Amino acid sequence: MKDLIAKFWSKTTRSDGCWEWTGTKMKDSRGVMSVNGKNQTAPRISWYVHFGYWPEKGVFVCHSCDNPSCVNPKHLWLGDVKSNAQDAASKKRLFLQRNPEKSFFASEEGKLKRARNEDHGSAKLKNSDVLEIREIVATAKSKYGLYVALSKRFGVCKDTIQKIAKGKKWKSLTA
Ligand SMILES: [Zn+2]
Repeated sequence: MKDLIAKFWSKTTRSDGCWEWTGTKMKDSRGVMSVNGKNQTAPRISWYVHFGYWPEKGVFVCHSCDNPSCVNPKHLWLGDVKSNAQDAASKKRLFLQRNPEKSFFASEEGKLKRARNEDHGSAKLKNSDVLEIREIVATAKSKYGLYVALSKRFGVCKDTIQKIAKGKKWKSLTA
C-alpha cells in the first residue's frame, strides 16, 4: 500500500485550501485512480491514505467545500445515502439563499420583495400627499406632462403617481 500512498501524493497538489487532484478525473470532476485493478475515487483514496481504512459500501465521501476534485481530508466527511441527500438539500437551500435569482420560486419571492420595497420607497409620501396628488390629477385641465411634474414635485417615480392617480396604491385612502 506504500505504492498507493506515493501515487496519491504524486497526483495531489496541496494548498491551504482545497487539495486539487491532478490525476484522471471523472465527468463529475472527482478524481479516480486504479487501486489493485479496481477504480477508486480520489476522495475515497484520500480517506484511506489519511484515516487508514476504506469507507464501507454505500457510504459516500462527501465534500464540505463543494469542490469534487478536492482531496483535502479536512474537507471530506462520510455520509450515507440519506445524509448525502439531506446534505444536498441543505446545500441547495443555502445556495438559493445566496443566489435567490437562480430559482424560479425564489425569483417569484424576489419579485414580491422588490414590489414591497417599491411600496416602501414610495411610502415617503404622506397620506396628505396622496390625497393632494389625487386632487391635482382630478382637477387638472390637461394631464399632459402632469405625472412627470408631480413625480418631480413629490420625489417619487412617475409610475407611482400614475398608480396613485388611478387608485391602485393607497386604495384604502379616500378623501
Ligand atoms: Zn476542498
